[in-house]
Amino acid sequence: MTNAGVYVHVPFCSSKCKYCSFASFVQNRDVQNKYFQKLNQEILSSTANKHIKTIFFGGGTPSAVRADLLVQTLKTIRTHFDVSNDAEITLEANPNSVDKHKLNIYKQAGFNRISYGVQSFEDETLKLLGRTHFASDAFCAVEMAKSVGFDNISIDLIIGARQLNKEVFEKSILKMKHLGITHISVYILMLEEGTRLFDEVKCGKLTPLSEEEVTKEYLYVQNALENLGFWQYEISNFALKGKECRHNQNYWDSGEYYGFGLSSHSYLDEIRAENTSFLDDYLRFPIQNLVAFKEELGKNEKITEKIMLSLRTVRGLNLKELENMGHDILKEKETIIKALEENNMIKVENGFLKIEKDKFVVSNQIILELI
Ligand code: SF4
Repeated sequence: MTNAGVYVHVPFCSSKCKYCSFASFVQNRDVQNKYFQKLNQEILSSTANKHIKTIFFGGGTPSAVRADLLVQTLKTIRTHFDVSNDAEITLEANPNSVDKHKLNIYKQAGFNRISYGVQSFEDETLKLLGRTHFASDAFCAVEMAKSVGFDNISIDLIIGARQLNKEVFEKSILKMKHLGITHISVYILMLEEGTRLFDEVKCGKLTPLSEEEVTKEYLYVQNALENLGFWQYEISNFALKGKECRHNQNYWDSGEYYGFGLSSHSYLDEIRAENTSFLDDYLRFPIQNLVAFKEELGKNEKITEKIMLSLRTVRGLNLKELENMGHDILKEKETIIKALEENNMIKVENGFLKIEKDKFVVSNQIILELI
């Protein structure tokens, strides 16, 4: 039996953030109940021939729905699949949609990792992003999670909306560390067409940071977090040693994973599939028609994926593994690699090709040259 991860998409939120382009909706309990009914059917109809090492409930905001719906779905996964005793089981939550009672239920059910959408330590930035919580809520949420026994707590942050207050940032990270966080994800704000933030920028109501300013902020955050004890292991991810996210690591290692729920992706037995992203279709289609897109990855696609995903990590691309897949990148891209090395963009070290950490911010351009 090979190993795999399970991703469960919970597409409900209590309100829509201004920058959000994810499949997430504000819906009533009736729709939520129907959704979870379908989700459980979908899980039970899948071929359970993999050993599950990680489970991730993402969204949306899983903590915005009734706790018993999440607990039941986790039970379904555990009954249907062979789940490892030491599986990492993550739940995404917003700081203002949890309380001690809920967190206790999650913990008792078997969730052992909480990932909070904190986004900023400054109320003005949170308001600008259309978040409904305050910076202080995040500290309370972490404290509560710790008090009910979670020892693996992650926070998500967004940079690029407005200039960071460095003093507030560093003090807040230190306080969070003291309260018990073990992991931090830092994302650069993306302005997606169709979002309220995109419209606000377009009509001049808001001016986000320039590319140059964002690069400076990213480099600052990278340094600050490393100085505060969180080592960077991927473009957007920092952790205390041993607390790296195993679920995401599986994606970057080109591992297999099931995806359940609206717009979820799966990669199993060399087939990549994507569920419909229309909620109505998800609710009314028979289970066998939920997949909207499916493709079998050939040799070249697998090589491209491996290069793209591995280069996101600090460890980099394992050249021997790539060679075993039939691609000698050092030979095929000799001139490009030499030029990138001369410009201190990448390095080849101990059998791995890596992007220099201070060039992660332009990794997309570098990766494009190498595939
Ligand atoms: S909480 Fe997350 S998923 Fe929900 S609207 Fe905000 S950004 Fe989107």
